[in-house]
Formats: sequence, C-alpha cells, structure tokens
Amino acid sequence: MRDTPGQTDTARSDDASAGFEITDDFERFSQRNDVFSRALWDGRVRSRHTDGFFASYRMESAPRRADGFTQKDFALRNAAWLISDIVTNRNAAQGRREGFQAPISDDTPVAPDQVAIDDPAAMSAEIKRISGFFGADLCGITDLDERWLYADRVDTRDMSAAETGLPEGLTGVIVLGHQMDRDLVDTYPSALAGAATGREYSHEAAVVMQLAAYIRNLGYRAVASMNDTGLVIPYAIKAGLGEYARNQLVITPEYGPRLRFSKIFTDLPLAHDAPRLRGVRAFCDICTKCADACPPGALPYGPPETGGANISAIRGVRKWTSDAEKCFGFWAKTSTDCAICMRVCPFNRDFARRRHRIWLRLALSPLRRVALWLDRGRGKRVKPAAWWGRSAR
Ligand code: SF4
Ligand code: SF4
Repeated sequence: MRDTPGQTDTARSDDASAGFEITDDFERFSQRNDVFSRALWDGRVRSRHTDGFFASYRMESAPRRADGFTQKDFALRNAAWLISDIVTNRNAAQGRREGFQAPISDDTPVAPDQVAIDDPAAMSAEIKRISGFFGADLCGITDLDERWLYADRVDTRDMSAAETGLPEGLTGVIVLGHQMDRDLVDTYPSALAGAATGREYSHEAAVVMQLAAYIRNLGYRAVASMNDTGLVIPYAIKAGLGEYARNQLVITPEYGPRLRFSKIFTDLPLAHDAPRLRGVRAFCDICTKCADACPPGALPYGPPETGGANISAIRGVRKWTSDAEKCFGFWAKTSTDCAICMRVCPFNRDFARRRHRIWLRLALSPLRRVALWLDRGRGKRVKPAAWWGRSAR
C-alpha cells in the first residue's frame, strides 16, 4: 500500500482491525463528486426530476395523490428538516451550506482558560455521557485519519472546489449516532418516511453544535460536522460503533442500520475506541435482501470490490459500493429519499427486545443461515395511511 496524504502509522495498523482494505490507487474523495453535488453541476445526473426533488423540499412541486406522497406527507417531512435547514442556510450566501457542504461555523469562541485533562479515558467517558445528555443515541471516539477527509468541499455559489476549512492540529473525531424512527422507516418508500431522515438531521444539528460548544467552553477546539468535510462511515467504524454492510450502511448492535451519524473534529485529549468486528460481513456474504429489494438495482451482489460504476464512488477502497447515479435517480423520480435497503435489512430490529437480541447472537454466529431463514417474511412496507391512522388514535 502506498502512503496517502496524512496517513499515519496508527491509521495503517487500524485498517485490518476495522476491516478496511485500501489499494494502491486510493484517492481522497472530492465532495464535488458526491451525487447530491453532481445533481447541481453534472448533466449526467441533473434532470427535471432532480430539480423537482430539490423543489419538493420547499413545497414547490405538486404533491401526488398516492398514499405517502400527499401534501400532508411532504408537509411533515419538510417540517422535520426545518432546524437542519436553518443551520444549512444561514451562511449559504457565502457558498457555505453548513452541515452538508461546509463544516458548521463556531457559534461560541474557545474559552481562554483550558481545563486541565490528566486522564483522557475519563474525559472520553464524560464526553459520551454529555453526548447522551444532549440527545445522541451512540458515541464513539477515534483518531483523525486524514484519508477520510474530503479532498475539497463545494462552494455552492458556483459548485467549484474549495478548501474544506478544517483547522490544522485537530487530533480526534467524536462520532455520534442518531436513531431514526422505526415506524416511519417501515413506510419507505414514501415522502412520509423522509420525516424520519429530516427529524434526525435536525436533531443531530442541535446535538453536534451543543456538544462542540461544550468542548470549546473547556478551552479546546471543536468543529461540528454533519455530512460535510469527511466521510462519516469510516470514522464510525473506527470508533467501534458498528460494521460496514452491503447496503452501504453501518450496522450497529443497538439499532442495526437505522441510524444517522454526525461528528466533531477536536483537539480535546481523549482516549480512542477500537473497531469491533462481530460478523456482519459474514452475514452480508450470505444475504442479498437489500440488493434484491432496491428498485433501480443500485446495490451490488457478490463480494466487495474496488472502484464503482461512476465518479461518485471513492477510488482505492475494496467495499460494497452502490451505483449512486441509479440510487439518486430513484430518489429524484419519487421526490424523496429512499431507504428501502434499511427497511428490509434483517438487522433492522428493536434490540431492546430480548428475542431480537437472541436473533442477533445467532446472526453473528456460525449459525447465521438459521438467522437468515428466521428473518423470512420480515421487512414488509407498512402503508403510510396506516401510520397516519395510528398517529390519529
Ligand atoms: S436507498 Fe433505495 S435506491 Fe438507493 S440503494 Fe437503497 S434501496 Fe436502492
Ligand atoms: S439486507 Fe442483508 S446483505 Fe443487505 S446489509 Fe442487511 S444483512 Fe447485509
């Protein structure tokens, strides 16, 4: 393996334990090439459907009569996004869509006096407790492996490449997990289900900004980040929160794949967590439920590979990679996000329940085929009208 920009000995030694396989042609990912950015500059992705997709988040495109796509469904989804939108739009005039295409600006200064930290392990435990106080469902901590930072961010005034703007000298990444509402996820695909996504983006914006402010008040730097600045999935895996799966999501022992992740880049002295591989890869090797259920056929069959169908795939990482153009094309046609591959995944369960914890032990054991067989018939779509009926009771 060739040295890559910023790659440290620690990062290299962590790769095997995190299940990462990096090849010689590795390149840091340019955020201009993510499919959401490309929908605004690349004629191979942009269409009347993608324009309609973005307009629907402003209630500007006509809702349909189909169950799950009525004005009420879009109204709830868009209201759920509101806090995230406020954060994202506040510096948009400077080309910074914060939380998506730029890190979130500090709302508070770094305190001039620094709290002494003698025990980084105790500080990590405290940060996890405070993250729960603010509303995060999971918290893990890892080193700032620069390979997973974007090579550049997007200036959204003209969609050109710009510096990510992350300060030098930050050493750690605090990764936060935010559980999505299970009943709403069961209604994918629908605009209604998108309320589960929007609500967690709004939650995570608040949580990540509050936790970052707490760290700055202790006298250390802390940059709050959502989808911007770097790829959160490798940081979540390195921080021990879960394992990478065929549906391109992180499967966690607490919530399966039903999570969103945010992060904080910091120089607060913290002990780091270790990756935990429990056997999700082996389960995905015998399961194709997400690929079978994907309407545009965007998810791969077979073992992990390097490369991908188009420039929206990172180069030089052997992994399961979706065809992002096909995936987003489906989102655009339905005017909402899709997570069918999350809904149908056998790990999409309530692990607070004993019988699901027993299933999880089976799924991560050599008896995984029994666990897959036991999953037959699960993961069916709940009609959005039924969700509204339930909520009206
Ligand atoms: S989000 Fe939907 S379209 Fe995209 S990969 Fe998953 S199932 Fe397929
Ligand atoms: S549906 Fe099956 S193959 Fe897809 S991520 Fe879940 S366990 Fe893995």
